[in-house]
Amino acid sequence: MMETFENVAARIILKKGRAKSVNNFHPWVFSGAVERVEGEFEPGDIVRIHSFDDQFQAKGFINPRSKIFARVLSFEDVPIDRDFFRHRIRRALAFREKYLARFSNGYRLINSDADGLSGLIVDRYQHYLVVQISSLGMYRLKSVMIELLKELVAPEGILERSESVSLEDEGLQPVREVLWGTIPDRIQIEEHGVKFWVDVVHGQKTGFFLDQRENRLRVGKLVQPGVELLNCFSYTGGFSVYAALNGARTVSVDISEGALELARENFRLNGLRPEEHEFVVADVFDYLREMSRNFSFIILDPPAFIKKKRHIQKGARGYKDINRLAIQKILPDGLILSCSCSHYMEWDLFQKVLFSAARDAERDVQILGKYSHPADHPIDIYHPESEYLKAFLLRVI
Ligand code: SAH
Repeated sequence: MMETFENVAARIILKKGRAKSVNNFHPWVFSGAVERVEGEFEPGDIVRIHSFDDQFQAKGFINPRSKIFARVLSFEDVPIDRDFFRHRIRRALAFREKYLARFSNGYRLINSDADGLSGLIVDRYQHYLVVQISSLGMYRLKSVMIELLKELVAPEGILERSESVSLEDEGLQPVREVLWGTIPDRIQIEEHGVKFWVDVVHGQKTGFFLDQRENRLRVGKLVQPGVELLNCFSYTGGFSVYAALNGARTVSVDISEGALELARENFRLNGLRPEEHEFVVADVFDYLREMSRNFSFIILDPPAFIKKKRHIQKGARGYKDINRLAIQKILPDGLILSCSCSHYMEWDLFQKVLFSAARDAERDVQILGKYSHPADHPIDIYHPESEYLKAFLLRVI
C-alpha cells in the first residue's frame, strides 16, 4: 500500500453554519470558522475537515498558529499520498508545457492554491527550478515535492527561496539554499524571442518577474521607433529591452545598482548597445519630481506598496504620487502602463487612485486596457485572492 501523508486520527470540526466557504471550494479555512479539533495532531499535518454535523467537507493542512487555520488540498475524500501530489504537479506542468513553453522557457510551473498545492510556488528558468514554500504543511513535505519535481521535470538544479512576508505567520524561517544539483550564477532564459539573464540566487523574488511577460510584449508592440520611454522601477530592464528592440530610446530607473548592471548586460545579450540608453540609479519618487525631460511612454511597475491590509491608505498615496507625476509630465498623446502588484489594491480602488491622480494633474486620460498576470499564474475562480497584478494602460491626451 502506498504511504499516506494523512493524519487519520484528527479532524477539524467547523462551526455551525460555517461550511459555506468550503462548500464554495474556497481553499482557506480561517480560525473563526473552526469549532474544535478532535484527536491528536501536529501543526502541518493533513487532516479531515468536517461540518458541524460531521459531514466530510475537505482535507488539508492544519496550522492553528496561522490565521489560515487550514489549507485545503482536496474537496474529495481521496487518499493524499505521493500519487496525489504527482498528479497535481503533472496537471500543472501539462498546461504550461502545452501552451507556454513555445513562448518562453521561463515560467511559473506551480502557482500554490491555484494549482491545488497550497503554499508551493515553483518557477522554472530553463533547466533550473526555484521553489518558494509558504505553508508549514508544504514545508514538512518539502523532500517529497523535491523528489517529485526531479522525477517529473528532471531539472539540473533546484534552489529554494522562501522569503515571503507571510512565513512568520506560519511559524517558518526564511530559506535560501540549493536543494539539489547545481545552480549557475546566471541563467539565460528566452521569452518571445527576447533573452534575459536571471540571477536566481541574488535577484528579487525568484530572480525575474515572470508575471509581466505579456505586458512586456504589449509594450514592445506599442512602441514607435524613436520614442523616448521611461521605465520606472526597471529592475533588470525587462520592459526596456522589449522597447529598445522596437526602436525606443530608453531610460531605466531603479534604486538597485546591481539590477541596472544586469539590465545593461541584458541589452548586450540582445544585440543592443547600452551606451545608447540611460540607466539611472535613483529613487523613482525623486526622479519623477525632478525630471524636466518629457517622455511619451512611461512604465510604472513599483514593488508592492501595500503588503498588509492596514497599509492600504498609505500605499494608495504612494501609487497616487507616482501616477500624478507621470500624468503631469508625459508628452501629449503619451502612454503610461501603470501597474500594481499589491494584492490589497483591488481593481476598483486602483482605478480610483488613477482617477484622482489624473484629476490633480488636470489632464485628459483614457483607459486603453486592463491587464493581469498571464496563464502560468492562474487564478482559481473559487479563490480570487490569487489575483494580485493589475495593470492599466493609459493614454494621456
Ligand atoms: N518591471 C520590472 C520589475 C520591477 S520590481 C520587470 O519587469 O522586471 C520593482 C523594482 O523596484 C525593484 O527592482 C526594486 O529595486 C525597485 N525599487 C523599489 N523601490 C524603489 C524606489 N523607491 N525607487 C526606484 N526603484 C525602486
